[in-house]
Amino acid sequence: MSTLSRTKLDLFIQCPRCFYLDQKLKIKRPSFPAFTLNSAVDALLKKEFDKYRAAPDKKHTPHPLLKKYKLDAIPIPHKDLSDWRSNFKGIRYHHPKTGLTIFGAIDDLWQNKKGEFIIVDYKATSKKGEILKLDDTRWHNAYKRQMEIYQWLFRMNGFKVSDTGYILYCNGRRSEPAFGGRLEFDLTLIPYKGSTGWVEGAVVGAWECLKKRKAPKAAEDCEYCGYVKRASQ
Ligand code: SF4
Repeated sequence: MSTLSRTKLDLFIQCPRCFYLDQKLKIKRPSFPAFTLNSAVDALLKKEFDKYRAAPDKKHTPHPLLKKYKLDAIPIPHKDLSDWRSNFKGIRYHHPKTGLTIFGAIDDLWQNKKGEFIIVDYKATSKKGEILKLDDTRWHNAYKRQMEIYQWLFRMNGFKVSDTGYILYCNGRRSEPAFGGRLEFDLTLIPYKGSTGWVEGAVVGAWECLKKRKAPKAAEDCEYCGYVKRASQ
């Protein structure tokens, strides 16, 4: 049984050729060192929200950020939450038509008054100005797809999922007078209304791509393939 991570499914969306080279021929696109500062923010946020995690019928203290945004939701406990958050396990769905098992690891899971799951993803960065919405940049479009794949995975596992998920953006302040061994962040909670209708087609498309005998064409404007092309002239 083959598995396909959320990241690799997104690689197929970005470039079927890169996906084919990676998955079928095991040729990886050059990678960058991991963003370990982001992982530290993720780990600390998980610990923080875990303190506020409570079953809907239990008395709980709302997280100050949810209070600030007047969001009537709570971080909820679930017996499988630690698996769903694990990069090696994640939420999984066996797709019968392709035989592929799709999986991805969420950052957090909240629940609204209607009993719907709310998918939450943490992002850390350091940009000038406040980040108030997801725009149409390559990065933000990838975040939107990420949210939609998680929503799809939970739905395919039989859970009720809210169309609206949240990106918890942590923006490192550059305006402080000095570092002093501390980095302060501004937190914004950005709602995103996902639409999962495309995911099924992408899974089938990725599967069909892997059955091809030749790798698909490279994108014209990709800096990596452009480099190889120019370097080999
Ligand atoms: S154009 Fe080349 S390097 Fe760029 S994403 Fe596609 S296969 Fe990968």
